[in-house]
Amino acid sequence: MNIPFTLVQGAYIVAGLLFILALSGLSKHETARMGNRYGIAGMTIALIATIIGATVGQEAGGVAVGRESGWGGLTWIAPAMIVAALIGVTVARRVEMTQMPELIAMLHSFVGLAAVLVGWNSSYEVAAYPAIHDVEVFVGVFIGAVTLTGSIVAYLKLSAKIKSAPMMLPAHNAVNLGIIVAFVVMTVVYVLVPHDQMVLRQTLLGLMTLLALFLGWHLVASIGGGDMPVVVSMLNSYSGWAAAAAGFLLNNDLLIITGALVGSSGAYLSYIMCRAMNRSFISVIAGGFGVEAGTVASGDADHGEHREVTAEGAAALLGEARTVVITPGYGMATAQAQHAVAELTRRLRERNVKVRFGIHPVAGRLPGHMNVLLAEAKVPYDIVLEMDEINDDLGDTDVVLVIGANDTVNPAAMDDPGSPIAGMPVLHVWEAKDVVVFKRSMATGYAGVQNPLFFKDNTQMLFGDAKARVEDIIAAL
Ligand code: NDP
Repeated sequence: MNIPFTLVQGAYIVAGLLFILALSGLSKHETARMGNRYGIAGMTIALIATIIGATVGQEAGGVAVGRESGWGGLTWIAPAMIVAALIGVTVARRVEMTQMPELIAMLHSFVGLAAVLVGWNSSYEVAAYPAIHDVEVFVGVFIGAVTLTGSIVAYLKLSAKIKSAPMMLPAHNAVNLGIIVAFVVMTVVYVLVPHDQMVLRQTLLGLMTLLALFLGWHLVASIGGGDMPVVVSMLNSYSGWAAAAAGFLLNNDLLIITGALVGSSGAYLSYIMCRAMNRSFISVIAGGFGVEAGTVASGDADHGEHREVTAEGAAALLGEARTVVITPGYGMATAQAQHAVAELTRRLRERNVKVRFGIHPVAGRLPGHMNVLLAEAKVPYDIVLEMDEINDDLGDTDVVLVIGANDTVNPAAMDDPGSPIAGMPVLHVWEAKDVVVFKRSMATGYAGVQNPLFFKDNTQMLFGDAKARVEDIIAAL
């Protein structure tokens, strides 16, 4: 019996189970920390087992770096891991919570790049079942290349380095479909071309890689700002399938299991988010399929004058209120206002005011972004409600505090069919008696559309940094 092989396979099973426990833990606030620990433990075991697999020989089912057997392989892996670990720790320490989505998009692009490199490397190998191997190479490189450029565009959009508005090339749906058909045809030709015709085979692979790189860029560039949350989880799913494809090529069972877990959970998350945002899943994964060029309205109609309020004025409103709902958004995260908001909540509750939070499914820049911040500031879970749970109560609410939210409270999503966010469910904050909007200016939100809420008779704008303004209100109370 090959002891290292058995040990490595056993470790892979344990790591796979820990990843499943991690996913299940991460699905609830209360168990999320434990879920993270399971994930860390699983990844540590997976790394150690893979290194052993790679260093003690191919038959251990690991990545055979440099095709060396014995511990000599470590001389390749160790320096790469040390450099990567240093970069990873530095980036993770520096990144702000609000930059997490862009970091995740960037990391997805690395998974895509790795799958492309693994696929190209494997294309030089002679396999026991050449036809199956050829299909694996083509599929792996295709998914990897789409993930690579798609994630780079997502990174650029999320970090506001390029505009988030959808790019609508004429006949963009036909272009996407044409590339998919070309991919299928090229895969068949690649399998049929004899292995001694290396130049022809590598030319085909090269052409397909270029087409897939273009497709990834085009798919994500065609999706508008408001739909980016779905794109982020969709790319998460693609990166999982890219990793699974690399797992097949490297003969690494754990990579196949982990890739399939990430791929399927990411696809399910995209589906849930599409339902929450009233978007067609097929339309979003097909890069805005069904949305024709020219249907995107600018939303900059003249809405009239807005009214302003001071922190003292807002405190006076709260002093009279019996019921208050707070709807936080991305601005609360950038201002790091969650602790001040939690303190304001505590003070109001001490005065017997009924305070609740209304959380939109895509508030902030990450699924669950607001829940994480409020949990960090120790806001009790039972007063943090989902959009669907709070919307019917907003009509009976005295004051709604919109803290750094914009697109998620925009009535244009319901009233303006030409708006880029048309059809997306929103928090009906305007139904409350009074609304106070905390933001620094009249600038638009992530989707780049003006918000008619700011001009309604019962809305007052409280300008300035959200954290400073909430602290001012606490002082005034
Ligand atoms: P928005 O991004 O629409 O708006 C945030 C508002 O916060 C801005 O209007 C800004 O106005 C204000 N703001 C920024 N900094 C501060 C500050 N320091 N103090 C006070 N206000 C501030 O927020 P929402 O959360 O309502 O909507 C999220 C948007 O992001 C949606 O369009 C969603 O589709 C998208 N998105 C969501 C993702 C997710 O998974 N949740 C992922 C990717 C995108 P001003 O500049 O005037 O201060």
